[in-house]
Amino acid sequence: MRKIGITTTVPVEILIAAGYEPVDLNNVLVSDTDPSRLITIAERAGFPLNCCSWIKGIYGVCLDRGIEDIICVTSGDCSNTIMLRETLKLKGLNAMAFAYPDRPDKEQMDYALEKLAAMLGTTLKAAEKVRKELQPVREFAVKLDEMTWKDNKASGGENHLWLVSASDFNGDFSQYQRDVQKLLDTCSYRKPYPEGETRLAYIGVPAVYARELYPFIEKQGARVVFNEVQRQFAMPEPGESLAEQYSNYTYPYSIQERIKDIKTEIPRRHIDGVIHYVQAFCHRGIGDIVFRDAIKLPVLTLEGNADFFLNTHVKTRIEAFLDMIQRSRKKKASQAVKK
Ligand code: SF4
Repeated sequence: MRKIGITTTVPVEILIAAGYEPVDLNNVLVSDTDPSRLITIAERAGFPLNCCSWIKGIYGVCLDRGIEDIICVTSGDCSNTIMLRETLKLKGLNAMAFAYPDRPDKEQMDYALEKLAAMLGTTLKAAEKVRKELQPVREFAVKLDEMTWKDNKASGGENHLWLVSASDFNGDFSQYQRDVQKLLDTCSYRKPYPEGETRLAYIGVPAVYARELYPFIEKQGARVVFNEVQRQFAMPEPGESLAEQYSNYTYPYSIQERIKDIKTEIPRRHIDGVIHYVQAFCHRGIGDIVFRDAIKLPVLTLEGNADFFLNTHVKTRIEAFLDMIQRSRKKKASQAVKK
């Protein structure tokens, strides 16, 4: 199968129906043994220092791994991708554009999907067939999410890793399903996490230092039980068609769509505090103002740039945040006893 790079979650059903193996370029970047090297490729090509590391890293991955076909999401993700696409084209790569509609509208989505299918030489009918094949795979991802927040037997890191991988199913959806099934079996034998743990939501784009973030949080007696964007990648609201599925997917649209989802999940998952991750030089960082206004819980905003590990500054901020939540929970509990 010919590989096709994607700059973020796209309707993979169409790519698979067209005979491609989707490769999420972000996942390749963070799984590389030396991601900084891939960012350097972009900086040597002239990408500014104050450009987001994901964008630079994606450019580096395409050149380093020889990925010739790329779907660049030019609307609904990142405006930097418009210029990223131009630079990839300059290198002779087949960088194609896909634009999510500006609002979650089934008719507009149908049109966008038809266009993508025609560009890749397939049909929406063929893609709908793939959607049905992928349904059980997506259900496994949702089960893992439940294993995290309902059964309390999966870690925040496992949840992050497998939900974020639902953007391309690691290139092989059957293998992905087997791997998640195996993890679910392992989890079912575990003891649940202790009842008094601090339960966190993680909102925002995946962190460059995700690999260290989740285990560090768990060492402090807390756990992420809601990975907002990663969960969206798994399409928890599949609907009855591709157009419905990708209209229910909240990430590409207004921040209000995301807030609706977050505000539904916070009480359902008994969350005590929220970590909002923002990427340095990303327009989405401004959304922090809107999130802080809407979320009535303690919010810690963390920023990352090209540091693929947790530095002391970030660790101290997490520790102080968790300490504050834990103290306030103890205080509330002792006040309740006095009453
Ligand atoms: S983190 Fe922000 S700037 Fe970077 S690729 Fe994502 S949306 Fe674009």
